[in-house]
Amino acid sequence: ELTRSRWILFALAALAGFVAIVAVVFALRARYAGRVAELVRLRHRETEQQHAALRAAHEALERSAAELEHMASHDALTGLLNRRALAARLDAFLSGPADACRALMLVDVDHFKSVNDEHGHHAGDIVLAELAARMRAQLRGEDLIGRWGGEEFLIACAAADAAEVQEIATRLVAAVHARPIRVDGTALAVTISIGVAHAARAGASASVDATLRGADAALYRAKRGGRDRAALQIVD
Ligand code: GH3
Ligand code: MG
Ligand code: MG
Repeated sequence: ELTRSRWILFALAALAGFVAIVAVVFALRARYAGRVAELVRLRHRETEQQHAALRAAHEALERSAAELEHMASHDALTGLLNRRALAARLDAFLSGPADACRALMLVDVDHFKSVNDEHGHHAGDIVLAELAARMRAQLRGEDLIGRWGGEEFLIACAAADAAEVQEIATRLVAAVHARPIRVDGTALAVTISIGVAHAARAGASASVDATLRGADAALYRAKRGGRDRAALQIVD
């Protein structure tokens, strides 16, 4: 009888011990799981912050790359394409569809040296920027315009035919002639001359050099003819 109750006591004690161990294990597990979840949350937040910082750095880099690219291809004074950027586009422009009429216009400011001499270099700069804006406003989005040299601009435009090219050039001359340019309260009467070269054989065979030479020759004629005008030359 005694041994039996001892056994029962022993079994109960063993059971209690087992239950206690299981309880401790579960409690530890719950606590550990909580810690792990907290760590995972922390790591996740850290990673998100690192991602956001990387994204911001990447966007900043892209912005500076775009700014650099813009600076390398545009003229700082007028905001137009610079000579290098424009030259790089001319081949593709002239070798476009053969049925489109393509022209290069060389624009030169008339007696610009006297603007500098009489009103100063700063006034000359303002005049160049205003001329660029006026010409840009007369052109369509697909026309190219750039600053070719000091007071010379180059325009590449497509048109229906030579008559339309001549009309565009005449409109540019008129847009400059029409209103004096205000510089520090002084109204300066400025005019431009344009040499227009119509690349008659646009498509594969139109050469940039030959068309530019044609524009130069036409510009010479516009100057000789009295300035403030456009002269046309057909190049083939
Ligand atoms: P023409 O009618 O024959 O073209 O006479 P012009 O006086 O315009 O021609 P010329 O080539 O003698 O003078 C051009 C002047 O343009 C000389 C140069 O100092 C000036 N120039 C060139 N680039 C700039 C610039 O960026 N700013 C200013 N203010 N002047 C410039
Ligand atoms: Mg010149
Ligand atoms: Mg000039």
